[in-house]
Amino acid sequence: MGKQQQESEGSRRKVVVIGGGIGGSFLAKSLQFIADVTLIDSKEYFEITWASLRAMVEPPFAERSVVYHKDYIVNGRIVTSDAINFTENEVLTEDGNRIAYDYLVIATGHKDPVPESRSERLDQFKTENQKIKSAQSILIVGGGPTGVELAGEIAVDFPDKKVTLVHKGSRLLEFIGPKAGHKTLDWLVAKNVDVKLGQTVDLNSISDGGGNTYVTSAGESIKADCHFLCTGKPVGSGWLKDTTLKNNLDSHGRLMVDENLRVKGQKNIFAIGDITDIAEIKQGYVAKKHASVVTNNLKILMSGGKEGKMETYRPQAAMAIVSLGRKEGVAQFPFMTTIGCIPGLIKSKDLFVGRTRKELGLQSKVN
Ligand SMILES: Cc1cc2nc3c(=O)[nH]c(=O)nc-3n(C[C@H](O)[C@H](O)[C@H](O)COP(=O)(O)OP(=O)(O)OC[C@H]3O[C@@H](n4cnc5c(N)ncnc54)[C@H](O)[C@@H]3O)c2cc1C
Repeated sequence: MGKQQQESEGSRRKVVVIGGGIGGSFLAKSLQFIADVTLIDSKEYFEITWASLRAMVEPPFAERSVVYHKDYIVNGRIVTSDAINFTENEVLTEDGNRIAYDYLVIATGHKDPVPESRSERLDQFKTENQKIKSAQSILIVGGGPTGVELAGEIAVDFPDKKVTLVHKGSRLLEFIGPKAGHKTLDWLVAKNVDVKLGQTVDLNSISDGGGNTYVTSAGESIKADCHFLCTGKPVGSGWLKDTTLKNNLDSHGRLMVDENLRVKGQKNIFAIGDITDIAEIKQGYVAKKHASVVTNNLKILMSGGKEGKMETYRPQAAMAIVSLGRKEGVAQFPFMTTIGCIPGLIKSKDLFVGRTRKELGLQSKVN
């Protein structure tokens, strides 16, 4: 049956997307007028995750970076609950829904314990902002992108606060090359951030409250009024361990996919974004590329096209920009690593928020 005929008879194929991060949201949006789309997400909103550090120093920023799913899914169903299992034609959610599918797309990247409601998420940023404002000294645990970006935001917006960053690795930003880590270390030190590498903090011994003393694995004492834990989020595949895909997870808990981004050995189950085992950098722009490939592949399959016609995905070169406050950043491009205003111009002012909103069909600004 041709696509038009299916649509006119109201028998569009059912596509269920699990996970409303950048991969799942973009995919659900792009298929909503072609298929009968359901987006299942633990929360009622899509969040530009890397804008959360800016929102901690400037809470109104989150008004633009935290977007109700219903604002861009205008012709589909949204289920706010965790997917907990699936059969060969239905997904089961924690709140007891059973959602039928012809095609399933798994996009559960990382599991983040953020609130389910948008308003609670916005309140959370206000609370974190108060925590920063009322502290004279702040400890950040973790020197990956989250810890570094938070340290950069605080150092630039609150230069009088004493910031200490403790990282267990021997260099910052281990997800990209060493040059980026070294340049970032110099930048942070120049902004008076005290960076301690190769150390951990015993989190069980920490009690938050005025003037805590934190002890590192090297026996150093750090006095700080509060701390932020930025040690990364677990891969969002815990729920898959109880499903028929449990043997499709690699040793990092990532879903093994083929060159068409179908879960290996599956006919009608795809995976996109950070959850996939593709040997490439895990980034939002990469997740969007996955979404685009799977959109094309689903269009082919839904219109009765041959499997052999499906688009093949090519892994991306490692490219990333880590913002350092509002004007600077450190960037790893395929042939060079650079720090300062140029990466800052690309990312740090608006953190791709306006661009992402426009791609979702929304106004760049909110009224
Ligand atoms: C500090 C920082 C800065 C970054 N900067 C950039 C950048 O500048 N550019 C860039 O491209 N990338 C950047 N990234 C990387 C980017 O954030 C991720 O690669 C991207 O968010 C991955 O998208 P995703 O859709 O695969 O997964 P996620 O964004 O992790 O979304 C997964 C979704 O699945 C949901 N979920 C999980 N489990 C379930 C379940 N069982 N049922 C229902 N829903 C579930 C979650 O609630 C979430 O909504 C940055 C990352 C960090 C940490």
